[in-house]
Amino acid sequence: SSKVGDYLTIQWYPGHMAKAKRQMIEKIKLIDVVIELVDARIPFSSRNPLIDDIAANKPRLLILNKTDMADGQLTAEWINYFKDKGYSAHAVNAQTGKGSENISEWVHELTAAKREKVESKGFRARADRALIIGIPNVGKSTLINRLAKRKIAKIGDRPGVTKGQQWIKVGKTMELLDTPGILWPKFEDPEVGLKLAATGAIKDELIDFQDVAVYLLKVLMVRYPHALKERYGLAEISYEGNEPAIEEIVALFDAIGKKRGCVIGGGNIDYDRTAELVIREFRTQKLGKLTLESPEETL
Ligand code: GDP
Repeated sequence: SSKVGDYLTIQWYPGHMAKAKRQMIEKIKLIDVVIELVDARIPFSSRNPLIDDIAANKPRLLILNKTDMADGQLTAEWINYFKDKGYSAHAVNAQTGKGSENISEWVHELTAAKREKVESKGFRARADRALIIGIPNVGKSTLINRLAKRKIAKIGDRPGVTKGQQWIKVGKTMELLDTPGILWPKFEDPEVGLKLAATGAIKDELIDFQDVAVYLLKVLMVRYPHALKERYGLAEISYEGNEPAIEEIVALFDAIGKKRGCVIGGGNIDYDRTAELVIREFRTQKLGKLTLESPEETL
């Protein structure tokens, strides 16, 4: 877990964070609505810690993405939780476009008051300007390409060409900035780092699979014991108290390794292979559509 934390800290040192925040504040000046994207499997852990400060004075659309991989029941709970907090919150799948076709309408609802003011003075309101923001890997580029109905050329990638902000027309009422706002994740909390690692938000070369798998199994034992039992053909998964002890997690780890033939000389469990297997099967929904956190735990 410290490795995950170190990685996040190295990627986002204070200078880098200050720069990202400054750029975001500049971009936000240009727009009417902030579209905040989070991963539906970890709606709390995939949010930037300062988003409420950074986007404070703009109406905000909160989009839970990757809902094809998440627990539908919990996605509904998260949507209600965010709605209770006053957000316009919706679920989408940026990869297939499910839900995303409504984004310009949701944005338009958020600009209604401002438009009325402009129109009451006899002017015609201009298009709604929006910006997609979020931490890395939540699907920002996928969603921009989906809304643009094409792959957006990265003009700034060619040397000597200054990257200008481009507006993409989405539907009749919305213009979207072609580059997303990229913010850093929460990295003070090691559990957040482990959840980001489990979902694939951190490069695999930089994470300790055993640490991540042990953490993931602990979460799944509590939230989805039936999924584990079914997938790995195990007897009852039980533990004392509210939290499985490390010995109980290791016993589960051993049982999965044995069932799947992840053994090395002398019949010992191959921990590396077992860890990789568990993480891969979680990421590819072999255990089902699972969400790693619920609103009441994160209040
Ligand atoms: P960004 O870093 O926020 O711009 O994220 P990307 O758009 O690069 O997406 C990160 C990864 O998530 C890519 O492999 C995408 O194909 C994948 N992805 C994005 N949206 C979805 C989704 O709704 N469902 C699934 N299953 N994968 C998605």
